[in-house]
Amino acid sequence: MDNIVRNKQLEWKTREGVKHVNMSGAARRDFTLIELLVVVAIIAILAGMLLPALSQARNKANGMKCLANCKQLGSALLMYTNDYDSWLPTATEKGGTPAYWKLQLAPYTGRAQVTWSNMVKDLKGFGQPSIFGCPTWAGVPPANSNWQTGEPGVYAGLGWNRWLCYNPELSSNGSDGPQKITYFKQRPTETALVGDVPDGTIHTGAQDNYVTIARANDGLPTRIASRHSKGGNYLWADGHAEWRSLVEMNSGKNDIPNWYFKAH
Ligand SMILES: [Zn+2]
Repeated sequence: MDNIVRNKQLEWKTREGVKHVNMSGAARRDFTLIELLVVVAIIAILAGMLLPALSQARNKANGMKCLANCKQLGSALLMYTNDYDSWLPTATEKGGTPAYWKLQLAPYTGRAQVTWSNMVKDLKGFGQPSIFGCPTWAGVPPANSNWQTGEPGVYAGLGWNRWLCYNPELSSNGSDGPQKITYFKQRPTETALVGDVPDGTIHTGAQDNYVTIARANDGLPTRIASRHSKGGNYLWADGHAEWRSLVEMNSGKNDIPNWYFKAH
């Protein structure tokens, strides 16, 4: 039997073959294929148990980020109304361009004043990754992906209440607004100004469905999402942010289905 010291191991040449023994004296045996498969199977089972929990935790974290975004928009909104004699930002500007409110709130969110045409191209500043967006939003329908690639700063998962805050030059009737924030003094906590809008995985339709939570004379609100625990996050007219279930938002209150989208 030849014993050779090689790399701090003794190699024992026996009749059965070569055995490795390290210098501490403990024998080392290689895993068999069956043992390896058992280990892989156990890891797979553990991963199967852990992954749903991880994905749930991620969804929860995204929901909290979305709520925090609404809260930051609320602070920006209150600063804006202070500077503009209580007037709220508007959903569009002259010509019907969408998401004009983002441009108006930009200086109050730590961003420099930008032009509207720069804003619509700015994915990072005004799109889904920004405070104007919802991290869980899945985008517009694939058939209309050109909307998003053309104007990434417009489509982000959070929409404005166009019913109350339309452009003054385009508004044809009183219910379109725009309003002063003081108009909500009766029940400011029961009027939603910003909220989660549906994405293209559950909804198809006009561009307005992806940028506004309500429009004048809509009847039942159909432009709201249920992506966070069967509900959505909202910024309310008093500046606070709060989650509400889709059922509650759609049911309204006092037999008025669109109660949470109207001024009180
Ligand atoms: Zn959201």
